[in-house]
Amino acid sequence: MARVLVVGSINMDLVVQTDTFPRLGETLFGNRFATYPGGKGANQAVAAARLGAQVTMIGRVGRDAFGAQLKTVLQQEGIDTRWISDSDVATGVAAITLSAGDNAIVVVPGANHALTPADLDAADAAFAQADVVLAQLEVPVATVEHAAELARKHGKPFFLNPAPATALPDSLLDLITLLTPNEYELSVALNAPGADWKALLKCLPGRLVMTNGKHGAYYTAANGDVQHQAGFKVTAVDTTGAGDTFNGALAAFWHLGAAEAVRRANAAGALSVTKPGAQGGMPTLAELDTFLEEQS
Ligand code: ADP
Repeated sequence: MARVLVVGSINMDLVVQTDTFPRLGETLFGNRFATYPGGKGANQAVAAARLGAQVTMIGRVGRDAFGAQLKTVLQQEGIDTRWISDSDVATGVAAITLSAGDNAIVVVPGANHALTPADLDAADAAFAQADVVLAQLEVPVATVEHAAELARKHGKPFFLNPAPATALPDSLLDLITLLTPNEYELSVALNAPGADWKALLKCLPGRLVMTNGKHGAYYTAANGDVQHQAGFKVTAVDTTGAGDTFNGALAAFWHLGAAEAVRRANAAGALSVTKPGAQGGMPTLAELDTFLEEQS
């Protein structure tokens, strides 16, 4: 069983559904409201935990009701939350309005942006105990870079899912064991905006896994050969959280080797899109095994 340390964001998604979007200054009645636990860090932690990994998370929430609720959700998934500390800044939220198949989203990072390199130093023992360290870019880049340094100090692989898309400094790229962008994030992360992703796949030999939606994923072997694994055919209901599920699975299964880890991550990602919500569709290990047996 892999021990996965996630350094990342924890959000509450606040979702309202309306028939039309409100105009500036307008108030209208919506049809439905719901809250969903989210944040790329928390999502990836939950994905890995459901698949049997022993997961520890480092992050920050506000000293408020959402913060307490989100920590409880993570604990119910069996995730070690002792390094998730409270902040005077409010818990991160995403305010999402859905209407006629479209969405408008405001993300307020809140406490996530209060996660500092010093918070990571305080959790040095968590790095020492991990098999894999996994981070995303919804917490400050300086904090992510320090996570990479601590992983290096302890000789642990450092996986970065560079989402949301951000150009990465060379100092951070140099410390990454595995970069896991989608095709858009790849060109932004490598400071090559607008470049064809196919041309960029060879840039990080042995250090790149790129997701490609229903087409599956590509990874680059140490000798520079690009391998493709087709996605699994499913009926997509809600693709939110597919990338997070893939990343959590990749970290949980990395010890099985790149080809097998990517195959299982593809399967987990495919299963995740068959149900609504980011965390709602994340499969358990038993569900993943059954799915893979049905496919073979
Ligand atoms: P992101 O959500 O970060 O943009 P992708 O859309 O590339 O990420 O999806 C991540 C992974 O989830 C894919 O590599 C694939 O394994 C799986 N996936 C996503 N969408 C589908 C789909 N429609 N059918 C099957 N698998 C999918």
